[in-house]
Amino acid sequence: MARDAKYDVLFEPVKIGPKTLRNRFYQVPHCIGAGSEKPGMQAYHRGIKAEGGWAACCTEYCSISPESDDTMRVSARIWDDGDIQNLSVMCQRLHQFGALAGIELWYGGPHAPCHESRDTPRGPSQIASEFEANIYPRYADKDDIKLLQQYYVDAAIRAREAGFDIIYVYGAHSYLPLQFLSPWSNKRTDEYGGSFENRARFWRESLEKVREAVGDDCAIASRFAVDSLYGPAGVELEKDGIRFVEYCDDLVDLWDFTVGDIAEWGQNAGPSRFFEENHEKPYSGVIKPGNHTNKPVVGVGRVTSPDTMIAIINSGQFDLIGAARPSISDPFLPKKIEEGRLDDIRECIGCNQCISRWEIGGPPMVCTQNATAGEEYRRGWHPERFHRAKNADKSVLVVGAGPAGMECAQILGKREMSAVHLIEALPDIGGNVNWVSTLGFSDGHPNIFRGTARGLGDWKRVVNYRQIQLDKLRNVEVHTNSRLDAAQAREYGAEIIVVATGCYWATDGLNSATHDTIPGVDAVGQEWQLTPEDVALDRKPIGRRVLVLDNEAYFMGVTLAQKLAGEGHEVYLLTHRGDIAKYMEYTLEAPMMHRELHRLHVHLHPETMIERVEPGVVHAYNVWDPTAKERFEVDTLVLCTARVSDDALFRELKDDPAALEANEVEAVYIIGDASAPRMMVDCIFDGHRLAREIDSPNPALPLPFIRERRLWGLVDNKVYDAVLASSDLQPMGA
Ligand code: SF4
Repeated sequence: MARDAKYDVLFEPVKIGPKTLRNRFYQVPHCIGAGSEKPGMQAYHRGIKAEGGWAACCTEYCSISPESDDTMRVSARIWDDGDIQNLSVMCQRLHQFGALAGIELWYGGPHAPCHESRDTPRGPSQIASEFEANIYPRYADKDDIKLLQQYYVDAAIRAREAGFDIIYVYGAHSYLPLQFLSPWSNKRTDEYGGSFENRARFWRESLEKVREAVGDDCAIASRFAVDSLYGPAGVELEKDGIRFVEYCDDLVDLWDFTVGDIAEWGQNAGPSRFFEENHEKPYSGVIKPGNHTNKPVVGVGRVTSPDTMIAIINSGQFDLIGAARPSISDPFLPKKIEEGRLDDIRECIGCNQCISRWEIGGPPMVCTQNATAGEEYRRGWHPERFHRAKNADKSVLVVGAGPAGMECAQILGKREMSAVHLIEALPDIGGNVNWVSTLGFSDGHPNIFRGTARGLGDWKRVVNYRQIQLDKLRNVEVHTNSRLDAAQAREYGAEIIVVATGCYWATDGLNSATHDTIPGVDAVGQEWQLTPEDVALDRKPIGRRVLVLDNEAYFMGVTLAQKLAGEGHEVYLLTHRGDIAKYMEYTLEAPMMHRELHRLHVHLHPETMIERVEPGVVHAYNVWDPTAKERFEVDTLVLCTARVSDDALFRELKDDPAALEANEVEAVYIIGDASAPRMMVDCIFDGHRLAREIDSPNPALPLPFIRERRLWGLVDNKVYDAVLASSDLQPMGA
């Protein structure tokens, strides 16, 4: 199918300095946890996007010196010849598919803890990082400034040698160039501090030097947070923001605009519960229309709608459609628009699970919508291509149409299994997503920084995409309102049964804090006690005073507390942990959620656990001092304590192999929450993995994946020889 002509504008080439982008789709720098140490993952993850039609793909932030070491997080590095070698693979892969390769040269200053290198970062002033714990920079005197600028130049020369086409001098997210520009971190009184020109001097000089070194061969880009959201204490759009763009416009071939800083970079990578599509428009979107630059501009905003994209281009907001998350969720987004297959676009849901795994500090990056993200090289998975299964003549029954079941059925269908039947007990497919996506609260009140509480409605895209795919597959049948017991499943006629029956919230208070139930808790028999499903599905009345117990530490407890407080209830939120909703720090939702909880006057009680419950009374204690008791008189108790797998069907089937054999059922598998409760991203992966490996020797066990690691003895660089030569250790075997 040909694309609609209104989208033609998206496929126009754009010149940036000495390079030309083949269209307007641009993957901005984003982290994946590959760095320079996992060249296969780096090359194949970016390469799949080049194959999917993106005109350029960039590395994540790429350190230019051991003084800028972000361990435990994984950045790319371009410190030496080994890094050139490894990153060149990414360049080759992108060029193979006609895309340009970009590299984001990064020096973190005090935001780089240097836990691996044990070096000391330099910065404009000796002020500790507001992001890292107890990391101070060394004051950069004028010799240091020359050295720092030379780091950028040397790194740029290495990057050119590796094959990069676009070289960034990266200052967004409050890294070194922005630290010099912003009065928030620059307190100097010499010619690098004080006036705007002085504060801008470091960045401008760095751009000049990099441009002089590589500007004839490579496009020079700069990523700039046009407003750091610190008010007059930092960079403000209407003051230094616009002025800096005008001041350095002659030195860049491409501007990449963002907003915010690193300590709260969820203002940039906005989660969908607070930010809608194109949410940066009021900041990064005003510079080009205001004629403050003559250079091409790229910006982001989790844009997945082709109509929003053409509005952005046609209104002059940006010249390029920048994407991090939309390109992860659907690496073939440009191709699908080009081919007129809009209903096949796998839209990002804004859950920020991709970011969470990097924030925690380890690869691979994951994606809720795209189970193949990060798995391109190590498992050989392609997001759009599926080869026919060796056992495609078999029929498969998938019981349960939640995220794992839906994903498994659609991939089995795409692998051409002879017949796939997806059976759901409820009226609709989607499982827990159907009620989770209704959660949240929005009264239109703006968050203190930016964003507005919107709820989790975008998460429903998980169901919508899979519904469309399932509908297209002729070998897949979906049956709802159909509950199967073990005998019915066995006698269904399928040779393979996949159990994806999900999980439910504990009704007896079973929890991870005490590894026990809670005396007095009975959400089945007690009308005033509710599980999250009870709240979401309006199963029971909710009184004025509500206590929410959260032992999971992700989104459910705080989401319900926010919803109930927003609806006018007096809410107490208890958790045995020291942090409220710890995992939301990794998804970047935490700061805004904290503001919401405070705005809605939720009473927060961390480090507190329930001891026992009596009608209308909750007895609690401090986890560090169990003698410190608290008593809460409430009308309603909401129990986000633990989830429990609904694996009864699987157990019954597995425990009767003779009955399976009698019905010619060859195998039974269990996936998703039914196997063990987990995050949605991992449920979908589990369903996808089984379908990908349904013809392996034992599909119940994942196949080995390629581990990118240095093997002992296979060492190849001069650094190794030099370290050994100066070592006081005895050599091996001596
Ligand atoms: Fe989007 Fe979530 Fe995938 Fe990240 S993990 S790309 S936010 S769907």
